[in-house]
Amino acid sequence: MIVSKYIMKEGVLNEKLTLFKLLSYMKSVYHIPQKIRTLTDKRKRRSIPLFNIVMPTLIFLMLQYRSFHTVFSSPESMNRRLRNCIRGKMPKVDAVRDLLSQIDPDELRNIHEETIDRMKRNRIWKHGTIGGCRVAAVDGVELFGSTKKSCPDCLARRHGKQGTEYFHRSVVCMSVGGPPHVILGQEMLKPRDGNEKDEGELTGGKRLIQRLRKRHGHFADLIVADALYLNAPFINTVLSCGMETVIRLKDEKRLIFKDAQGLFEKGAGKKEAFKRGRTEIETWDLAGFEMDGVAKKVRVIRYHEKTTKKNGRTEENWMWLVTTDETADNQTLWKIMHKRWDIEENGFHQLKTYYHLKHCYCHKAVETVFYLIIIAFNMKELYLYRRTKDFKGRKITLISVSRMFQDELHMKNMKNVLYESEKGG
Ligand SMILES: [Zn+2]
Repeated sequence: MIVSKYIMKEGVLNEKLTLFKLLSYMKSVYHIPQKIRTLTDKRKRRSIPLFNIVMPTLIFLMLQYRSFHTVFSSPESMNRRLRNCIRGKMPKVDAVRDLLSQIDPDELRNIHEETIDRMKRNRIWKHGTIGGCRVAAVDGVELFGSTKKSCPDCLARRHGKQGTEYFHRSVVCMSVGGPPHVILGQEMLKPRDGNEKDEGELTGGKRLIQRLRKRHGHFADLIVADALYLNAPFINTVLSCGMETVIRLKDEKRLIFKDAQGLFEKGAGKKEAFKRGRTEIETWDLAGFEMDGVAKKVRVIRYHEKTTKKNGRTEENWMWLVTTDETADNQTLWKIMHKRWDIEENGFHQLKTYYHLKHCYCHKAVETVFYLIIIAFNMKELYLYRRTKDFKGRKITLISVSRMFQDELHMKNMKNVLYESEKGG
């Protein structure tokens, strides 16, 4: 019974947070160090083994260091940390960049995909559903930009007097609901030749959903997205993959908005109001709308939220959504739409602010570095929210976790866990 063995492994709870335990977990459950050893090394000169560069890079990205330069070129502060996770010669920053730029990002994507397979087997999403639905959000995220340097994969935009700005952008799919929040996948947007416009988020989003479906099967019941994704080809793609969509409706000029508004104003579709904490929510919910090009009739829901603050003042807010889901009740859909912010607050915000996604670690290895960050992000989420007893209740900030881990690496030797096989070899 291999399956139940791993469920047990996921379920074991740790008391104290340590980097050592996180690395042991990555090794024993997800086999990350073992898989890094199998990456193809295309370098001609290999004075430092691939593992001695990629594994520490993954660790230092996970510990959220600001740049490779900070890590690999400042022996005063970093020497002990490097020595505590590398056997043999220390790599210099140039060797790190040289190797990363030669790694095939698809090989790292494979490692990432295998971690998702394992999470599925370990039933990570058993508790993270919203009203019984497994929900994933899709959204775009911008990586670094520059007006000076560019590469063949750069996207470009005109910037008035400053000239052209080059940048990289990716569409990310992430689980939403309760933690752990897991990045399911990403798709880099591609540039176009000549005068053709660079690829947009919708194109990347469609490709990502199709790829995830093909690789992982039914990875979610429902895809939630912002108003940009209210687009027939995108919705049809999700439907053809056997999932439903919940998408924000913002544009008051859209036909579907006007149609629904006309009916709602006449009192059609009015449902019973419900309460969430200090907020009272009025709901209008009507099915049977046609959206140009969409393979199925859609439902439009309008929420009017009225929150009474502690000081007695009230705050009002309207929220509209379009969904292809015929059965989900409107309270669940309200919750799903609010949880979409999870991907902003817990996902992108974290990536940008703490994982320094906007920093160019290595321009020749954008996707490779991004996959290392994704693996680091997921492993840390899983360790904190699955393996650590009541991490949420302990109210330790994620930034202090990183500081604790940085200090620990300064003090403690991690080489045994990284270099030796599980059965002491
Ligand atoms: Zn570039």
